[in-house]
Amino acid sequence: MTKVLYVVVPCYNEEEVLSETTKRLNEKLKKLIKEKKIDVNSRVLYVNDGSKDNTWQLICDIHKNNELFTGISLSRNRGHQNALLAGLMVAKEYADVVISMDADLQDDIEAIDQMIDKYLDGNEIVYGVRSNRKKDTWFKRTTAELFYKFMRFMGVDIVFNHADYRLASKKVLDELEQYHEVNLFLRAIFPLIGFKSDIVYYERNERFAGSSKYPLRKMLNFAWDGITSFSIKPIRLVLNIGILMFLISIVVLLYCIIIKLMGNAVAGWTFIACSVWLVAGIQMLAIGLVGEYIGKIYNETKNRPRYIISDNLLDDK
Ligand code: UDP
Ligand code: MG
Repeated sequence: MTKVLYVVVPCYNEEEVLSETTKRLNEKLKKLIKEKKIDVNSRVLYVNDGSKDNTWQLICDIHKNNELFTGISLSRNRGHQNALLAGLMVAKEYADVVISMDADLQDDIEAIDQMIDKYLDGNEIVYGVRSNRKKDTWFKRTTAELFYKFMRFMGVDIVFNHADYRLASKKVLDELEQYHEVNLFLRAIFPLIGFKSDIVYYERNERFAGSSKYPLRKMLNFAWDGITSFSIKPIRLVLNIGILMFLISIVVLLYCIIIKLMGNAVAGWTFIACSVWLVAGIQMLAIGLVGEYIGKIYNETKNRPRYIISDNLLDDK
């Protein structure tokens, strides 16, 4: 039996690119249906993220003219990640497998074939990974690479150079629904879900038309969300600094005693020098300790699933 594919495309003020994106996705879906790789009920699902231009009107027109295309509209702009999540959650009710991609044709549509092949080979998630960043500006390339390295350093399991171009099966999306967090950083949640996964390399193009809807400010917020939503290492750092300062205070204490015994110390100096380090150390330690608990509370409030069962022999009849 062929599988129903939904391609989810979040759109925010994308009237300039939508017709070209539609044209290319139409060709691609028709070809895949003809090759019997996907079912005839497969669709492209546009998610209008509270656009201020004609995007929604365009989506409605496209839907009227071509049954391969459909759409949903959010009540207001909620940002790329929320728009994507909305699309994924709606699509999974109709589809066996969902691919998410940007509207601006930066994600190479040709990689869809390989993604489907890998899915048919038994992978539940297929990550689209950029083979290089030659087409990025120096600034974007350097900051992006630094960001991925920093995330790894912070202990976040993230696929290097993978954004939100990915395939996920219905099984995976049903599990994604169990992640109730409000600060969404989808690319780091998928590796947490697990299941068999693979990678498809593709070359990222320049934006087809229009300008980026991700200005530097949004990008920085997004990066910050990524770090603080997945890691409590920064808090642990404070605790570690506290421990370090406490140890230093012991060294300072010994040093002060030696100076005192040698008779070089000004009256009262020993006491003050030791107190400064000791008090600061204890304070840092206390803040870090409080932070540890806040970190724990933070993780608890996210209410993430503690395990996900991938196969169950008890279900066999
Ligand atoms: N997008 C969205 N809501 C927003 C901002 C962006 O749905 O608030 C969509 C946008 O229409 C595009 C995708 O997210 O399909 C990626 O945005 P963009 O191409 O502007 O980001 P960049 O590629 O420059 O990082
Ligand atoms: Mg883009």
